[in-house]
Amino acid sequence: MSNCSAMKTVLISGAGIAGPTLGFWLKAAGFEPTLIERAPALRSGGYVIDFWGLGYDIAERMGMIAEINRVGYKVRELRIVNDRGRRAAGFGTKLFTELTGGRYVTLPRSELSRLLFEKIKDSAEVIFDDEIISLEENADGVQVQLKHSGERRFDLVIGADGLHSTVRKLAFGPPEQLEKNLGYIVAAFEARRYRPRDEDVYLMYDQPGRMVGRFTLRNDQTLFLFVFAVDGDPLPSTLDQQKAVLHGKYAAGGWECPSVLAELDRATELYFDSVSQIRMRSWSKGRVALIGDAAFCVSLLAGQGSALAMISAYVLAGELAEANGQYQQAFDNYEARLRPFIETKQRAAERFAGAFAPKTRWGLSFRNQVIRAFAIPGLATLAIGREINDNLQLPEYDLRSFQHR
Ligand SMILES: Cc1cc2nc3c(=O)[nH]c(=O)nc-3n(C[C@H](O)[C@H](O)[C@H](O)COP(=O)(O)OP(=O)(O)OC[C@H]3O[C@@H](n4cnc5c(N)ncnc54)[C@H](O)[C@@H]3O)c2cc1C
Repeated sequence: MSNCSAMKTVLISGAGIAGPTLGFWLKAAGFEPTLIERAPALRSGGYVIDFWGLGYDIAERMGMIAEINRVGYKVRELRIVNDRGRRAAGFGTKLFTELTGGRYVTLPRSELSRLLFEKIKDSAEVIFDDEIISLEENADGVQVQLKHSGERRFDLVIGADGLHSTVRKLAFGPPEQLEKNLGYIVAAFEARRYRPRDEDVYLMYDQPGRMVGRFTLRNDQTLFLFVFAVDGDPLPSTLDQQKAVLHGKYAAGGWECPSVLAELDRATELYFDSVSQIRMRSWSKGRVALIGDAAFCVSLLAGQGSALAMISAYVLAGELAEANGQYQQAFDNYEARLRPFIETKQRAAERFAGAFAPKTRWGLSFRNQVIRAFAIPGLATLAIGREINDNLQLPEYDLRSFQHR
């Protein structure tokens, strides 16, 4: 095992996707991670994510694949419908399965977060309903003031607290300079006993500048997703205000918009956030480093935020395990390994932004033409194959020998 005596205790802020993954791998390498989560319990809600590539590989190394496949779904088709619910465009997803050798699954974000947390909850200190309010680095550690649990000292502090990271704010300054807003808002909620159901089909309906998606879950649940263009208006903060914004955007919509909005009125939980990227010059400062969305959010439109969060957690843990206490070296290696890969993903997400909810009728029609072209097998392989392969070799670290403990 690596000598990590000079940096044993690690405070991880955020128990979403990146945080528990980092906790797992640090624990495996002999560190003492503490997870602190602002919410009173693991956050549920959010839409489904497609899971493949290096994220899938890391989950496999964590011994989670059987569980992930058990709670996941094998989507058959992406179907875009018109005002009357008729198919306007779409494609079968068999191709994804072929391109990934069957290592492809769709699952609710909340399930992935829960399964990752299960892996660490009994072997690390976990603090819910609390957060860091100040950080002060000194020669031998970071003095941290917690909102409810007083002052503590840690060797290292890692921000895994998402797009609006507090650790980033405290250590690196105001968010405005680092956040690039892509001009869309995303919202998601879950409803019970909704009809109709279309098992294993992603349904999407759109009008210029707005789309709504529906995905059927087990246990008579249905997930809804909204993505719509905005002109830099401030994000509404209360549930009622957020619902009002969605009503304003979708009230005139066709398809199932009226019944989706009626379900929304009954919802008590709604995920609602801006579609933004985080672009930083450096992902670490002294004894503080960032992973996942906190460091480099690529945005929902990259469709891979969770996998990237897991990759960054795995690589940071590996580099720390091999650094013999030289945390600065570990942080530098972590960033050098991932930055070019992440920047490619960010550029792709920006290019793809318009295709998710095109802002004009012409844009919608063009997007549908492209999707129809996906029915031509060679073309689809060419178009999707380029995007689906992760252009990164997952490093092998010593900590692999500690997996499944
Ligand atoms: C409830 C929820 C629903 C989501 N739904 C979607 C979705 O439908 N589609 C999509 O593409 N992406 C969604 N995301 C974002 C997606 O999970 C991330 O892009 C991706 O998984 C990266 O993971 P992460 O661990 O870096 O960040 P996140 O998954 O965002 O996790 C960050 C965690 O940090 C916690 N946190 C925040 N601030 C603090 C603080 N100050 N102190 C302590 N803890 C803090 C949050 O409560 C959260 O648990 C959602 C995120 C959340 C939290």
